[in-house]
Amino acid sequence: MRGLKDGFRRFMVGRYGTDELNRSLSVLILVFVVLHLLVRSKVFFWLEVICLVLVYVRMFSRDTGKRFRENQAYLHYRFCVGEWTGRSRRRLKEHRTYKIFRCPHCRQKLRIPRGHGKIQVHCRSCGHDFMGRS
Ligand SMILES: [Zn+2]
Repeated sequence: MRGLKDGFRRFMVGRYGTDELNRSLSVLILVFVVLHLLVRSKVFFWLEVICLVLVYVRMFSRDTGKRFRENQAYLHYRFCVGEWTGRSRRRLKEHRTYKIFRCPHCRQKLRIPRGHGKIQVHCRSCGHDFMGRS
């Protein structure tokens, strides 16, 4: 058992190993396995195979620089998607509690709590007052 472990360790020297992209691909494989079981489509089977091959090729690759750049690109993409969905969720929540006005004088956005009926809105940016329904 120890010899097998040492052999694997020697095999992995200079190879990339695993990273966040491989972990996400592994989760994707599990999703495809479940979909394959539910839908019984060959498409999901081939998607599983492609992802599995990708995971192993990346893991045993000796071109660590290229694998690192792929992982960085993936992390950047994931961060951007997370930021975009978080921003959308925040905007939706804000839309329920606040009404956004735009000052007719200077085009400044003004956030007013909803539920106060017709009110006079004061722009702090230019001092212009106008009427609005909150
Ligand atoms: Zn203004």
